[in-house]
Amino acid sequence: MQPFTYLRPASLDEALHAASEPGTSVLAGGTTMVDLMRGGLAWPTRLLDISHLPGLADVQTDGPVLRFGALARMADVAENETLQRAYPALVESLQLAASQQLRNAATLGGNILQRTRCPYFRNGVSDCNKRVPGSGCSAVDGEDREMALFGTSESCLANYPGDWGTALAAFDTAVELRSAAGLRTVKFSEFHLPYGEDPAAETVLRPGEIVTAITVRATPAGRASTYLKVRDRQSYAYALVSAAVALEMEGDMVTSARVSLGGVASKPWRSPEAEAALTGRRLSEAVSLEAGEAAFKGAKPRRQNAFKIELGRRVVARAALTAAKRI
Ligand SMILES: Cc1cc2nc3c(=O)[nH]c(=O)nc-3n(C[C@H](O)[C@H](O)[C@H](O)COP(=O)(O)OP(=O)(O)OC[C@H]3O[C@@H](n4cnc5c(N)ncnc54)[C@H](O)[C@@H]3O)c2cc1C
Repeated sequence: MQPFTYLRPASLDEALHAASEPGTSVLAGGTTMVDLMRGGLAWPTRLLDISHLPGLADVQTDGPVLRFGALARMADVAENETLQRAYPALVESLQLAASQQLRNAATLGGNILQRTRCPYFRNGVSDCNKRVPGSGCSAVDGEDREMALFGTSESCLANYPGDWGTALAAFDTAVELRSAAGLRTVKFSEFHLPYGEDPAAETVLRPGEIVTAITVRATPAGRASTYLKVRDRQSYAYALVSAAVALEMEGDMVTSARVSLGGVASKPWRSPEAEAALTGRRLSEAVSLEAGEAAFKGAKPRRQNAFKIELGRRVVARAALTAAKRI
């Protein structure tokens, strides 16, 4: 690990001032950042510890907008009883992520900024455009079983790995970003970038900006929602495929549907195709499978990951049927 200066600001203002210095990276729970530094995948010269700053861990789950302070811990939010009742998809995405020990330390802001688990990126030696722009993508002719089906390019096939971000994508979510220059708010759907030609660019976060909160517009669809995650191991593993589904219904008729996919795309992936296949339909097993089919219509499988299409179709279908039972 290369030497760095550790900074512990006394206030958010002090932190924003320090963040504007080149070479500065933020440290929140540290569960990703320390790994990246140890692996030679991040090399800040100044590490800005914000984990203790007051006011940034507050969570509000009533009113027209839910507000999650960026420093709220995953474990604490998963225990929030209002959220458990009114937004089970959000809670389940946290409960199914990582391990209890990690969730005790990891923050919501850090979670949406976690980096891909692509082994070619993480191993620090393979050609990887995300790590060394212009070096190539080893997955293109390599192991691609866990790679993405959406939002990729020949420059990068890596997955976005987060569960909480996938569930957030099913709602009207925004991210509050502060810098010494002030506050800006970005729609969550525009916060992460598909990898395209520049896989090293993953989010619209600018140097000097700190995520201070994540907001979600309140919706009755939250109650009839679920997050379903399928993985190689039942615990402590990333999603092969996951789906968040949130529904509004009149009787068995779906009046509004929100569907997002995880483990299959370069960023948290909303599926308007699946939503259209559910909306205005009487929900049945056949209709839920049609929605799953629609969700994966535009998928671009490689040699070893086409199985995710059939798996994903069933994950979306099962999530829709589970969500509907919660009306
Ligand atoms: C073994 C293991 C298994 C895991 N399994 C899962 C899983 O199944 N599902 C899942 O979703 N996640 C999983 N994770 C990822 C874990 O959830 C993230 O590491 C965690 O949420 C990151 O939060 P943190 O507070 O520790 O962030 P940090 O490690 O402190 O920071 C992560 C990144 O975000 C930046 N950052 C953090 N907070 C801010 C902020 N407020 N403003 C600006 N930048 C910021 C940091 O500079 C850094 O680049 C796993 C992690 C590990 C180590």
